[in-house]
Amino acid sequence: MEKWVSMPKVELHAHLNGSIRDSTLLELARGLGEKGVIVFSEFENVIQKDDRSLTEVFRLFDLIHIVTTDHNVITRVTQEVIEDFAAENVVYLELRTTPKKNESVGMTKHSYLEAVLEGVKAVSTVDVDFRPHDGDVRITGNSPPINATCNGSTRKKIYVRLLLSIDRRGTAEAAMETVNLALEMSDLGVVGIDLSGNPTVGEWTTYLPALKFAREQGLYVTLHCGEVPNPKEIRSMLDFLPQRIGHACCFEEPEWEKLKSSNIPVEICLTSNIRTNTIPSLDVHHFADLYSKKHPLVLCTDDSGVFATSLSNEYNLAASAFGLGRREIFELTRNAVEFVFADDGVKRELTELFRIAEQKLDQ
Ligand code: 5GP
Repeated sequence: MEKWVSMPKVELHAHLNGSIRDSTLLELARGLGEKGVIVFSEFENVIQKDDRSLTEVFRLFDLIHIVTTDHNVITRVTQEVIEDFAAENVVYLELRTTPKKNESVGMTKHSYLEAVLEGVKAVSTVDVDFRPHDGDVRITGNSPPINATCNGSTRKKIYVRLLLSIDRRGTAEAAMETVNLALEMSDLGVVGIDLSGNPTVGEWTTYLPALKFAREQGLYVTLHCGEVPNPKEIRSMLDFLPQRIGHACCFEEPEWEKLKSSNIPVEICLTSNIRTNTIPSLDVHHFADLYSKKHPLVLCTDDSGVFATSLSNEYNLAASAFGLGRREIFELTRNAVEFVFADDGVKRELTELFRIAEQKLDQ
């Protein structure tokens, strides 16, 4: 694993609350058990298990929804998730989250997001660059470059950008509210919109006005696409030309052709696809075909907490399942710099970081 941990990595598909640490979830669940909000013993085994079944995965999401209804918890989870990704050398991280409201604790979607931002600012193990720069005119010297040397000691740095998720259970109005919130927070690192939530619920076209508005206003858009067989929806999503899509599991030939000719990058989440039974096994995973056709791809975790994985683990899995060497995996992550939702200045800095890392690759 060490060779994957030490490799610089780009993570583009990580749901904030799905990336919660087991130890934190256990501690918070125990606290809720003591208060009588949940029956702790019903969740204890599921939290401590690594190979959760699909039903157990959904039970964990239910539990996570109960524990993440408090500002302090949101802040803590955000800080820990970023620190965990940074600890395994993720140098650029896009975190997505669904803004939530909870009147009983005075939580609005706005205050939820402020709590997330508090978490970003609370990160202490690495320097965090989370504010978008002014397009091309960014000068590296404005903030410490990645792995900056300061007073003789080297500090690691991670870029963090936020995407707000539109939940497919919500209304068109709620989606527009999310887009407006993203625009309001765009100076604070919110760069895009994601469409996620239960793929069997609702019509994606409900959210089209909000998604179009997001794009017109300069936000990036990525869609969970093809998690269930729904060719009409998949084709319509591809016609929208989002900047990226997530998963792309249940495609048939016409949809593959459309995807390949569009060149839309795909966020691939191997462990998640297997655990949720969206793909029966890695030997039939679409990664192999897309990779061999040189379609733009990026390996991601989806929900590192819920699926008990890490980005290093996903790299390890891809290497062994598809016979890829260290250099191929390195190139895969380096190529992902092209489709990060950040300005050219950030891309240039990441490119330089990967150039330096490449020199050490064969040592
Ligand atoms: P949050 O938005 O609360 O930070 O992260 C958890 C949420 O992300 C889940 O409740 C769900 O709405 C969404 N999510 C996480 N993983 C997946 C996935 O694999 N597919 C879809 N469609 N949504 C997901």
